[in-house]
Amino acid sequence: EAKSRGRGQVCYFNNAMRKKLKRRADIENDLQHGIRNSEFELFFQPIFSLNDPHVVSFEALVRWHHPKNGLVPPNDFIPIAEQTGQIIDLDLHLLRSAAQQLKLWRQAGYPMTRVTVNVSSRHFASLDFVTYMQQLYIDHQLPNGSLCLEITESGLIENLKLATQIITGLAPLGVKLYLDDFGTGYSALGYLHQLPIHVLKLDKSFVDQLTHKENPLIDAILSLARSLDLNVVAEGIENPKQWALLKRKGCQFGQGFMVSKPLPADEAMQFLLTHTEMALSI
Ligand code: C2E
Ligand code: MG
Ligand code: MG
Ligand code: MG
Repeated sequence: EAKSRGRGQVCYFNNAMRKKLKRRADIENDLQHGIRNSEFELFFQPIFSLNDPHVVSFEALVRWHHPKNGLVPPNDFIPIAEQTGQIIDLDLHLLRSAAQQLKLWRQAGYPMTRVTVNVSSRHFASLDFVTYMQQLYIDHQLPNGSLCLEITESGLIENLKLATQIITGLAPLGVKLYLDDFGTGYSALGYLHQLPIHVLKLDKSFVDQLTHKENPLIDAILSLARSLDLNVVAEGIENPKQWALLKRKGCQFGQGFMVSKPLPADEAMQFLLTHTEMALSI
């Protein structure tokens, strides 16, 4: 009996494995077409100042209009694109979309704002990335610092010297580096002061905890940021209590569903225009 059950499990395992591999192969295939057919759309989530509530910038977050599967969220395909290496093409394509959006907004006479784009740390392995960014700034006549980057720390640390060269190469464009999901990865504190980064993004998991208990790590991260002269953006603020606590602790910026979900470009700009002074007094 055990034997037949065991075999059943093996069989089930194989099926699950096969399905997973098939799904991966499908996504890999579809990604290639998707990039060519422009099936990706950037949504924009407002980042705001906690003290004097107004929108300071947008984070660009990709959505995939898949011809068969509808709207696909990034967590369903970004990790696969990372594995297959397609993330390079996808990110470069999305950086260009963000630059085009900034140009469209400028041409329409809207106030200039900053957009941060999430990119894989794989880009920080070649100086070609600096050239690409320079060209984007030129092609779209982007004001200094209007197109910035979000990156997680693990990849930067793997190749600290080259990463530093690349970040330094981007500096004349005003490109700021936002260290994403801070506090969840290796958080190799020893390297933090060596990296020419500008902003820490406090991971949502810390913000979630604020509602029920004090976590001394939050204070530690904020104080670390202060001593390194880095700004902090808190991710995933969902209620006024979190906002108030973060503000009291000295966190300057935030984003989250409490203020706005990621929005299509037009709605995002409307949001910015109607919330130049957000009517939130906490
Ligand atoms: P991330 O960069 O840490 O982005 C924050 C995620 O938290 C986004 O999920 C955002 O929609 C979500 N979020 C923001 N505020 C709240 C909130 O108040 N509550 C909750 N529950 N969630 C909130 P999203 O858009 O699904 O993106 C997931 C991840 O996919 C991103 O995490 C980023 O790592 C990656 N990603 C998104 N767009 C791109 C891209 O264009 N290129 C690359 N390489 N990665 C991307
Ligand atoms: Mg991000
Ligand atoms: Mg994040
Ligand atoms: Mg994240």
